[in-house]
Amino acid sequence: RTIAVHGTPLPGFPPPGAVLVFHDVTDLRRLERMRQDFVANASHELKTPLASIKVNTETLLDWGLHDDSVNVILLNQIDEQVDRLDNLVQDMLRLARLESSDAPFLLEPMALGPIVRACVSDHEPRARAREQRLIAECDALDDSVRVRAAEEAIRQILDNLIDNAIKYSPEGASIRIAARTDDQRVRLDVADSGPGIPRDDIPRIFERFYRVDKARSRSLGGTGLGLAIVKHLAQSLGGEVGVESQLGVGSTFTIRLPRHRETA
Ligand code: ADP
Repeated sequence: RTIAVHGTPLPGFPPPGAVLVFHDVTDLRRLERMRQDFVANASHELKTPLASIKVNTETLLDWGLHDDSVNVILLNQIDEQVDRLDNLVQDMLRLARLESSDAPFLLEPMALGPIVRACVSDHEPRARAREQRLIAECDALDDSVRVRAAEEAIRQILDNLIDNAIKYSPEGASIRIAARTDDQRVRLDVADSGPGIPRDDIPRIFERFYRVDKARSRSLGGTGLGLAIVKHLAQSLGGEVGVESQLGVGSTFTIRLPRHRETA
C-alpha cells in the first residue's frame, strides 16, 4: 500500500506495512504552473489569428463582396492567418509528441554530412529571396562521421535554426553552417550576423512561447516554439543546444551530438 503524505504525519501513522512517499510539492507546483502557462499562452496565440480572420470574414460579408480589390486584400489576409494557425498547431503537435515520450524516435547509426548538406540546399531558395548567402563549411563531415540519430530529428533541428537565421538576419547577410568533430562529439554551428539577443533574454529563448520581440516574431511568421522544439530534439538524440550572441553582431547556435563509433 502506498500513502502520500504532505506535512507532519499523525502519531501512530503510518500503519505497519504501509510505504510512505514524500513528494516534492514545490516541483509539482512548478510543473502545474508551467502547464497552466502553456495552456494560457497557446490559447492566446490561437485567439489572435482567429480574431483577425473573424474581422475579415465579417467585413467581407457586410461590405466587401461588391468590390474585387477589397475582396482580394481581405482574402489574402485570411490566407496568411490560416497559415499562421497551421504552423502553430503543427509546432504544438510536434512539441506534444516530443514531451509525451522518452524515446520519440528510433535511433540508428547514420552519416551526418549528407543530411546537413541536404538541409542547407533546401533553404537556399529562401535565403536567395532575401539576397542572403548560406555558407556550408562541412568538410569535417566526411562519411566516417556518424551519429546515432533519426534523420527527421536532425533535419528539424537544422530547419528551425537555419530558418531563424534567415528570418532574423538583414537582407544580403551571410549565414554560416559549420561542422567540427572530436573523438567523442560532433558540433554543428549555425552562425548569423543578425541583431543578436540581449544577454538577459538568452537563458529564456528556449522556453515555449518566449520571444525577445513578440510583434517582430509574429510578423515574420514565428510561432515562438521553434527553439523549444530544437532543445527537446537535441536532448532526444542525447545531445544539447547552446547559443552565443552579441547585440548588433550576431548569434551562433550550437548543437552537440554524441559521435557514433562502430564496434568491431
Ligand atoms: P520564433 O518563432 O519567435 O522565431 P523561436 O523559438 O524559434 O521562436 O525563437 C525564440 C526567440 O528567440 C525569437 O522570437 C527571437 O526573439 C529569438 N531568436 C531566435 N533565433 C534568433 C536569431 N538567429 N537571431 C536573433 N534572435 C533570435
